[in-house]
Amino acid sequence: MQIQPFSVNDGEGIRTNIFIAGCPLRCRWCSNPEGFEQKALIGWHGRKCIGCGACAAACPQGIGIDMNVSGREKCIACGACADACPEEARVRMVKLMDADDVIREVMKHRLFYTYSGGGVTFSGGEATSQPEFLDYVSRELYDSGISIDIESCGYFDFDLVRPSLERMDLIFMDLKHMDPEVHRKYTGVSNERILGNIARLGSLIHPDGQGRPETVIRIPVIGGVNNSEENIAASAAYVHDVLPAAKMELLPYHSLGRIKYEAIGMPFEQDAFYTPDKEEMKKLRAVAAAQGPEIADYR
Ligand code: SF4
Ligand code: SF4
Repeated sequence: MQIQPFSVNDGEGIRTNIFIAGCPLRCRWCSNPEGFEQKALIGWHGRKCIGCGACAAACPQGIGIDMNVSGREKCIACGACADACPEEARVRMVKLMDADDVIREVMKHRLFYTYSGGGVTFSGGEATSQPEFLDYVSRELYDSGISIDIESCGYFDFDLVRPSLERMDLIFMDLKHMDPEVHRKYTGVSNERILGNIARLGSLIHPDGQGRPETVIRIPVIGGVNNSEENIAASAAYVHDVLPAAKMELLPYHSLGRIKYEAIGMPFEQDAFYTPDKEEMKKLRAVAAAQGPEIADYR
């Protein structure tokens, strides 16, 4: 989806995030809807558009300026419109990239990693959704001495992804709700696989046999969904029980994804959710801490 350099919220130091398309969940509050599917995707930002028509003139499929009302379904994601647009109003929101090109791109910032204690973070979409890519790129970076972290929704085949996970310095994994039915209602899947994978993180050992990846279990706190004290306490108690070394991080929901939904012509249906304020977040972090886990803050 994107290679984003100079990130400081996704691990230690200055990092480059690799956002990988494809996700098995459909969280209703998702802020990266372009990453649901593993396919090239073109977006149109109407607010940036000056109506010059260069995109429509370049399009081999006869799609007009506002592609969301003039034939988006015919789009073959050739990118001709994005290349022609003078305002970056037409953009490639997901594109196919060769793994070696991704490595070359992230290595451009190696000096920043060295001097800041940073590195590369795999994210998404879902970072594990293309396991062969993750295995290859994480091995190349690990062998080059680059610090690598991963952010995951936690819904993956643990045995398949294990070698990649063992190369990580830090693993962020989400826990969205302790009730399997509520979890299914809001994300499309039950939480059982995720809970099982959290428990297995403690079995990971770095490939050289020295040490383990650090683990941070993240709760995206969605007002109206999972922000009850009971759910936060139950989540923290579970994490501390099965993975005592794990830290936890609680992050408030935000609605910044709205602009992306507009760009890809997808309805934005998050009005039922709200962003917990600072006081509520402080209270919920205390609720989690009372169950034992150390509370981390990478913001
Ligand atoms: S990506 Fe290609 S097919 Fe799709 S709208 Fe742009 S020019 Fe047309
Ligand atoms: S090329 Fe860009 S600025 Fe011009 S009409 Fe198309 S989207 Fe708008």
